[in-house]
Amino acid sequence: MIDAIKKAEYKKKLEGLQTLLAKELEALRKPTDMGNEIDALDAEADEAEEFSANAGMAQAVQERHEATVAALGKIETGTYGVCESCKDEIETALLDVDPESRLCKSCKSNRK
Ligand SMILES: [Zn+2]
Repeated sequence: MIDAIKKAEYKKKLEGLQTLLAKELEALRKPTDMGNEIDALDAEADEAEEFSANAGMAQAVQERHEATVAALGKIETGTYGVCESCKDEIETALLDVDPESRLCKSCKSNRK
């Protein structure tokens, strides 16, 4: 069982993470500056490439953001730290590095 002190620690971590990811997402979603510099023609192709790379990254960041929000919700409802797959407790060693994790260590490695 995750004790209250540990839980408060994760909550703080998750809140910080949530803010950080929201900011990151905002930055990634900003339309790429299609500026009108002198080398605009050359830059255009690069920017298009950059845009699709950003879209992929935005997707990953968004998923992590959603997981973070879900984890915070679970802290409120008291179901935090329970694996969504096998309903076992998630190892605190895993939560220390990945506080938004929905799965325990073994379920996570089974998925890959
Ligand atoms: Zn599990």
